[in-house]
Amino acid sequence: MSYSIYPSCFICGTGKSVSLFERFGKYTIYSCVGCGLQFSEPRDYDSHSYDEAFQGDNDFSSLGYIARLSSFQTYPLYNFERFILRWLRCSVPRGSFVLDLGCGGGVMLYHLRRRGFQPLGLDVTPSSIQRLQEQGFTAAVGSIDSYPSDWPEPVAILMLEVLEHLPDPVDFIRRVATRFPRSYLIVSVPSSRRFTLWRGTREVGDYPPHHFTRWTPKALTTLFKNYGYTPRVFFPFLSPQNISGSGIGMFVFSLFRKQSGAPTTSSQKPIRLDIRLIRLKQVLFLPIAAILHLLGVRDISMVVVGTPSFLTTDND
Ligand SMILES: [Zn+2]
Repeated sequence: MSYSIYPSCFICGTGKSVSLFERFGKYTIYSCVGCGLQFSEPRDYDSHSYDEAFQGDNDFSSLGYIARLSSFQTYPLYNFERFILRWLRCSVPRGSFVLDLGCGGGVMLYHLRRRGFQPLGLDVTPSSIQRLQEQGFTAAVGSIDSYPSDWPEPVAILMLEVLEHLPDPVDFIRRVATRFPRSYLIVSVPSSRRFTLWRGTREVGDYPPHHFTRWTPKALTTLFKNYGYTPRVFFPFLSPQNISGSGIGMFVFSLFRKQSGAPTTSSQKPIRLDIRLIRLKQVLFLPIAAILHLLGVRDISMVVVGTPSFLTTDND
């Protein structure tokens, strides 16, 4: 009998095999045979290792965060964001309070308000919150533990692109579920069926200390069920603006030769994303997105909707 020095999966618990997946700097990434979750050890955030991992060229500038922060009224949404707004329109009453936990620059707050909801924003970045308050949004600095006492109970809680950054995602979901057990919980994480993975390489942003976990539908649903939610996972249609000429080339290349391993370099892309160019791409690349859809490729993020237990329990 041999001892495993590998950590156990924090979704499945002990008794499930975990295998070494890859190494990236000081981080070791493990993969769970049971639920498919990939997680880093250690999962500690410090600015030094952050700088070390992402010095020089990096992919964050290409994500459009800066453009989205400064022009969120006109910046085109990703399809997973549209999907969530549609789901809310169909599932909860107009005028409902919807909390965006980790609201960032307020893209979703703006679109929630436009669609008749009453958005509430929490984020740990004071500069974003201050600007949102100036624009008339109900927003506060903090997280779920410092939820303002004079705010109402939200009907739904959004956590978009947050979970994968957290050193202890299970504890975070536990705290949300404990604080608001009657709210829908809607989480998005990078999709296991996203376009960029099909290109054969993983984005440098998908490595620690940026992302500590990589989720599968099974890992997400297990986590949600553990805290009393009835989960449903959705893979929204690929956003055409995510497709580029070089991306198509890489995709075709990947069909013949699968690349693997951590990225050593990443391409420098322009920080400024022209909104009109994105709109054009939404039209031009729509047929290609449809073809990729048939091949099983989906949007950059997948969405899990957790229905709270009181809504699924029979009244008997
Ligand atoms: Zn697992």
